[in-house]
Amino acid sequence: MRKITHIALHCTATSQKTTSIASLRAYWNSLGWKKPGYHYVVMPSGKVERLLDESQVSNGVKGFNSCLINVAYVGGIDSGGKAVDNRTEAQKASLYFLLEQLKSRYPQAIIQGHRDFSPDRNGDGKITPDEFVKQCPCFDAKTEYAFLYPL
Ligand SMILES: [Zn+2]
Repeated sequence: MRKITHIALHCTATSQKTTSIASLRAYWNSLGWKKPGYHYVVMPSGKVERLLDESQVSNGVKGFNSCLINVAYVGGIDSGGKAVDNRTEAQKASLYFLLEQLKSRYPQAIIQGHRDFSPDRNGDGKITPDEFVKQCPCFDAKTEYAFLYPL
């Protein structure tokens, strides 16, 4: 198994109504990606779809993927395309359950959002909202899941 340093949280940045796994795969194919963007996608119903074995590298965070497990929830934008945390209660429950399982397999892995991989432009050791290159996953995953440490 490769070394997993982080579990990265994403939103699919798609509508919760229209998204299917097939449409996500079609989008990645259109980008020329040979691997999916995420290992796991959590549907609005709470169903967890596994798209890729954890031993394989997915395409979640450019430059970091070799050390990541990428997890996404379907959603993350409102009807106007604006970034929003619209996780359903079922998604929150499934995300928690999935992250607990991942932490048991990779206890040293840090859970954080895609946006927390943004460069620390002012070098203060913190990635602050003004430094986010994107909003994904539209919530503060690092703080929300901090209680999973230490296992
Ligand atoms: Zn992302």
